[in-house]
Amino acid sequence: MAEFNNQLEAKRVSSWTSMDENIKKETFDVCEKYKDFLNKGKTEREVVENTISILEKAGFVDFNDILSGKIENKPGTKAYWSNRGRSIFIFIIGKKSPENGIKIVGSHIDAPRLDIKPNPLYEDGDMALLKTHYYGGVKKYQWVATPLAIHGVIMKNDGTKLNICIGDEDGDPCFVISDLLPHLGGEQLNRPGRDVINAEQLNLIIGSVAGYENPENEDDKALTVKQNILTLLNEKYGICEKDFMRAELQVVPAAKACDVGFDRGLVGSYGHDDRICAFTSLEAILNITDIPEHTALCYFADKEEVGSMGNTGARSCALDHFVSELCSLYFDKNVTLMKERCMRNSRLLSADVTAAYDPTFPEVFDRINAAFAGRGIAVSKYTGHGGKSGSSDACAEFLFEVTNGFDSEGIKWQINEMGKADAGGGGTIAQFMADKGIEVLDCGVALLSMHAPYELASKADIYWTYRAYKNFLSTK
Ligand code: MN
Ligand code: MN
Repeated sequence: MAEFNNQLEAKRVSSWTSMDENIKKETFDVCEKYKDFLNKGKTEREVVENTISILEKAGFVDFNDILSGKIENKPGTKAYWSNRGRSIFIFIIGKKSPENGIKIVGSHIDAPRLDIKPNPLYEDGDMALLKTHYYGGVKKYQWVATPLAIHGVIMKNDGTKLNICIGDEDGDPCFVISDLLPHLGGEQLNRPGRDVINAEQLNLIIGSVAGYENPENEDDKALTVKQNILTLLNEKYGICEKDFMRAELQVVPAAKACDVGFDRGLVGSYGHDDRICAFTSLEAILNITDIPEHTALCYFADKEEVGSMGNTGARSCALDHFVSELCSLYFDKNVTLMKERCMRNSRLLSADVTAAYDPTFPEVFDRINAAFAGRGIAVSKYTGHGGKSGSSDACAEFLFEVTNGFDSEGIKWQINEMGKADAGGGGTIAQFMADKGIEVLDCGVALLSMHAPYELASKADIYWTYRAYKNFLSTK
């Protein structure tokens, strides 16, 4: 037993220790691209838009052009299919027909944030504020007293769609939710953490200047701060108060992705969960040079942070529809049967983040089953809560197949459980993919400060995750 533990312990070392200079350079180069990907995509819509522009430069075509017969479908064809601009399928047609199964890396591109309420604008204390509704599992106290940006779309009265992105660029104003000063925070600081800031206190300050009152003209009444803001919004964007009701506006941290540490070994950013797996799988499919045996697919889902609901979430029939359309191209077959065979024979990596061992909070981890930042892609046989509730437990056979593939290329990986069995837990899209009959395994990057406005990831893990997804997508 002692010897076995020693062998295991020997394998469980930082992957930086065995990285030669070439791989190190490749690691740092990939992470420069990743930071750009993060900065250009702070909402699921922006991620899809930026991804399409990257794909088109790399020769990927719109799947609709294949379905309409404009572009020929043949092994090696590279294409993408956007699902309502908030989720996307990216694929390379393999040599084998889909009934032999396809290989999928499924990630999600939504991230915890604050959404602006449909009727958000009010004035109080000579300030104009927007009420927000948090999205996903956020610690609300982390969102106050920090610079925030507003991203999203507004449907205007005339039916045109207005893209909003303000707060990130140099020279932009940003927006802030105020916190209580410690001098008056005695009662606040005695509350449990979840109530330090409550949901209805997440009110975003967007203005403080009242309109000018003209003393020359008695009819010219003073504008309130709210009226002044509405005037400004109307002049700049042509919108009125009613337009907030038909908008999708998200409040996200204004900070950009940044290297962390004197040695620059970590990337700090908003939204690693789960754009880190979306990016590494995108980089993987972009770097596949030979035509794969099985069709290789990257699936970026939406709404994972709220349970994968909705028609852009992984619980929806979006993947089924995609596979049916794919099968319809092989017109000599029964599409329904072919789709069912495809699902049954398909294999999927549920590409999502997990927790990295945090030296400041060791008490929540089972140290010998924890993932460590820098030790490679973290493979989780199962996720879930308590007695594995809400998880898809991968079978030993598939675990072997996937990790044996990683080993064949010297890809660094580690096996993990997120934390102590009863410390909490979390789910991924794995269970919803497994419901479709697909073979599924969870694996992705281990993060520190997951779901915080600024999360941390090891550059080594980003690199090994990219290599791991590429290995999976391009092998039999
Ligand atoms: Mn996630
Ligand atoms: Mn998450």
